[in-house]
Amino acid sequence: MRRITEANRVTFAGKKLPIYDKIIIKDFIGLHIEYPTDIKVRTVKPTKSHSFAFVDIVAILAGSVPVITIEDSGTRYFLEKLAHELTHVNQSLSGDLHYDSDNIIFKGKKYDLDTYKQNRDYKFYLDYPWEAEAVRNSTEWVDKYIANDFKKLRGQDSTIDFIIDNDLMETKSTQKVREGSLRDKLIQMGKGVCSKNSFLNCQLFAQLVSNESEILKLPKVNDMQIGDILVWGRFKDNPPRHYSVFIGKGEVMEVEGWGEAMRIVSFEDVNEEYEGALEIFRPNLKR
Ligand SMILES: [Zn+2]
Repeated sequence: MRRITEANRVTFAGKKLPIYDKIIIKDFIGLHIEYPTDIKVRTVKPTKSHSFAFVDIVAILAGSVPVITIEDSGTRYFLEKLAHELTHVNQSLSGDLHYDSDNIIFKGKKYDLDTYKQNRDYKFYLDYPWEAEAVRNSTEWVDKYIANDFKKLRGQDSTIDFIIDNDLMETKSTQKVREGSLRDKLIQMGKGVCSKNSFLNCQLFAQLVSNESEILKLPKVNDMQIGDILVWGRFKDNPPRHYSVFIGKGEVMEVEGWGEAMRIVSFEDVNEEYEGALEIFRPNLKR
């Protein structure tokens, strides 16, 4: 990996970031970009799923400065998404990743473009080697960065010093591990609830898993955390059309209809089915 050189400049657009975030982002890009290029980082307001990031590979291949668009969602998640998109920038600039009119071509192998565009399920990403590489880098690079390189920024900004001294970044990565186990716990609970009650619907399932009888009276939130109850299609006094439980990794668990087995499906799919008419309720998960 080479450090960003005089020829490389990182510029920012969109939602304003604090100085310390800009320093961290520039440093991180400098470490991971493999080709001399300017980079523009465009920050947008957080969305509900906290997972939006984008880089236009077609534009890069046409010679434009790479513009990485990312929603602002806290330093660690921001860096993870940045790592993902930077991987695609490297793949494009190296010539490994390109397009023709019908295919995406990665390392000489062709993949049908329409299929790729249609299927937006997270799990399916990993079937495409350029995405698998980006997903892998997003955790590996960030873990390594936080453990080593990040500490070299000491002295540049008082907030960064505070973060280093208080192990805040490490806490965030530990939090991820904890979230991982909370996901497993929830799935176990979901299975347990279903084995004890053979005839459930989506609402009963969500109530039993969260141990909350009045879901719609729980605090309503705008971000989405593991364990949150997702409620779709409630208009005025009409009852909701669907309930499920968010379990992270872009997935929800639910019982779709009366008597059906519990299933794990992508959040995007369910959200699309109910046309995004989503409300998020946060149960008090004391585990
Ligand atoms: Zn990607």
